[in-house]
Amino acid sequence: MKLCNKCGETKTLTSFGVQKRSKDGLQYYCRVCRAEHQQLNKESISKYRKSHYKENSAKISERKKELYPRYKETISRYQEANKDNISNYWKSNRGMRNYHYNKYRAVEATPNWVDHEWLKLIYIHCPKGYTVDHIIPLQSDIVCGLHVPWNLQYLTPVENSKKHNKLIGDKRYGRF
Ligand SMILES: [Zn+2]
Repeated sequence: MKLCNKCGETKTLTSFGVQKRSKDGLQYYCRVCRAEHQQLNKESISKYRKSHYKENSAKISERKKELYPRYKETISRYQEANKDNISNYWKSNRGMRNYHYNKYRAVEATPNWVDHEWLKLIYIHCPKGYTVDHIIPLQSDIVCGLHVPWNLQYLTPVENSKKHNKLIGDKRYGRF
């Protein structure tokens, strides 16, 4: 258990996101408080990130260039040696596979303040026979939902296609 510095509640460790640099490796605010904080401060957070990146972009890309060759060989050696394990991992970890697939697919609908650890948990805990659905679709003519935890729900494939058909018939959503 751990105390949240914002709401002052004691919560389970899984209620906190990962932060490598902190003492216990977890964030100071619980996921709920953090999402709220980031939502409230998203403009200043994104401004800070952008200016930080701008000021340091030369340094950052220099560092990347420097590190990449060093790791490239290790990575490919690792991948080669663990080929079977890796493919088994993705086969047996449907949740993580879907998390990564959607991270890529929904990259434009993902605000930079989103808590990826929270998203991961949603995909990992998707019950058998269900899919993770975006309540407001990511893309349609009128609305664009976000790839955020509160826009996700578990649906069976049947419910999902019913919903889809209904939305297609709904003029407010237009064409997907
Ligand atoms: Zn809290």
